Amino acid sequence: MPLIDTHAHLDFPKLQDRFDEVLQNARDAGVERIVTIGASRGLDSNYRALDIAKEHDWIRCTAGIHPHDAEQATEEVVETIRREFSEHDQVVGIGETGLDYYYDNAPVEQQKWAFRQFLEMSKEVDKPVIIHSRDADEDTIALLEETGVTGGILHCFTGSRWMAERLFELDFYLSFSGIVTFNSAKELLEIACDTPEDRILVETDSPYLAPVPNRGKTNEPAYVRHTAQKIADARGITLDELESFVWDNAARVFDWT
Ligand SMILES: [Zn+2]
Ligand SMILES: [Zn+2]
Repeated sequence: MPLIDTHAHLDFPKLQDRFDEVLQNARDAGVERIVTIGASRGLDSNYRALDIAKEHDWIRCTAGIHPHDAEQATEEVVETIRREFSEHDQVVGIGETGLDYYYDNAPVEQQKWAFRQFLEMSKEVDKPVIIHSRDADEDTIALLEETGVTGGILHCFTGSRWMAERLFELDFYLSFSGIVTFNSAKELLEIACDTPEDRILVETDSPYLAPVPNRGKTNEPAYVRHTAQKIADARGITLDELESFVWDNAARVFDWT
């Protein structure tokens, strides 16, 4: 069964510096699809992500502004993403966007404003929103309810069981990263075990959060295998079985068949 990495930042310098090797490692590890996420540095990241997707038929991209950089999400930048990216065939989702109250790199009101813009955009173009939410469970759910957005992805899920349940009611997918392989994340692994077969995704969030046994190294899409294996073991199924749900879920949510 082929693997998919549903969330990687291939445009980031740590991966761009050895790009061909990173893609070859992914292929060697059985990764046959990658979604590269437009995120930061204003629009630069989005332009590069789109170029990567255009150059590689097994890679698609998304477009958004990370909550850490919410101050860069001006009306003009949001309008450019709407006009140049949101309806592009290679762009399979809107984000990443969301709320991060842990790092608190941008004012909360600006984070919320930008998040609302991208939530509305995802409805307009009927593509899934890719949400980053850290220490912001209640406000994230409140904004989803206010805007009526359903069917998106909560990436690198680290929220509470309450949040997971609310997200399932909103037809969201939970995407688990290498954090589930850390010994400190027992509760999170339990949530990954209890996530319904048709709601689970697996990602690297590379270059961050490399899973055990590569913890501390620069993460890359090839390592998605370790995270998927950990969740499969915890669920008492094979890697192939897990990946067959993940593959189907990703194909459905991104409308990538
Ligand atoms: Zn994120
Ligand atoms: Zn990310």
